[in-house]
Amino acid sequence: MKKLLGIFFAAAVVLFFLLWKILGGITDHALHVYVLNIGQGDSILVRLDTGENILIDGGPDGTVLRELAKVLPLYERKIDVMILTHPHADHMNGLLEVFQHYQVSNVIITGVFYKSSAYEEFMDQIARKKISIFFAHSDTDYRLGTVALDMVYPLKLAQGDRYENLNNSSISFRLLSRDGTIYFSGDLEKEGEEELLRSGQNLHAGVLKAGHHGSRTSSSEALLEAIRPQIAVISCGINNTFKHPHPETLQHFAERGIEFFRTDMDGRVDITAEAGQFFIETENQKRPP
Ligand SMILES: [Zn+2]
Repeated sequence: MKKLLGIFFAAAVVLFFLLWKILGGITDHALHVYVLNIGQGDSILVRLDTGENILIDGGPDGTVLRELAKVLPLYERKIDVMILTHPHADHMNGLLEVFQHYQVSNVIITGVFYKSSAYEEFMDQIARKKISIFFAHSDTDYRLGTVALDMVYPLKLAQGDRYENLNNSSISFRLLSRDGTIYFSGDLEKEGEEELLRSGQNLHAGVLKAGHHGSRTSSSEALLEAIRPQIAVISCGINNTFKHPHPETLQHFAERGIEFFRTDMDGRVDITAEAGQFFIETENQKRPP
């Protein structure tokens, strides 16, 4: 009888851990932001404490599904909100794969003019799947579960607009939660940052997803002064041809005492907001030399 009880107990423990793995995250009442390790590009998954998923960009081809599978529970097949900051391939192409494997409920885009077959396909998918579409501008904010998306850029509707530098059409926003604020800047560069700063909006945030992969043309001193982050995360590929992140940007972070993480060295960067604090974990325990 004792032996039977022992076997029963062991089976219960195994079952519990299996269920824990399958339902991973469901009992975890914290806000998670995963800056995915997708190479040169951007893809960030925000998983709310209430279980909703926000996907900001999808990186280039062929990496995002593998990375999403690492952080989402096995059963999860829905993306509540997909945000395309701007339609460059290193932010958009992975989203075409996401449409094939996940049920997307809403997309937020600028609708800016850009000629590429991938962008056409992206817009086709939205129409074919009858996904609700929202055009971002700083006058309209969004609410989802326990968070608010405070849109700060573009300052006005950019639907159909032509941009000389598409990076300067990037959606930038703050994610406001009871445990802290995170700023996402897309690939916004100098001219866009200056226009944004002139608008006088509150940009303050504890964590900054650095603009344009840590380029010297983003994260200006004035922008950093307005955001005043304690932590910055840079999404960039190992040995990328643009030499992102640029040393000037890293130096500005260091001078301001901003602790920074970078996906090329640290792998995926996991930010957890809990009890009014940010906790960071990285995929690579040590940065490669
Ligand atoms: Zn980019």
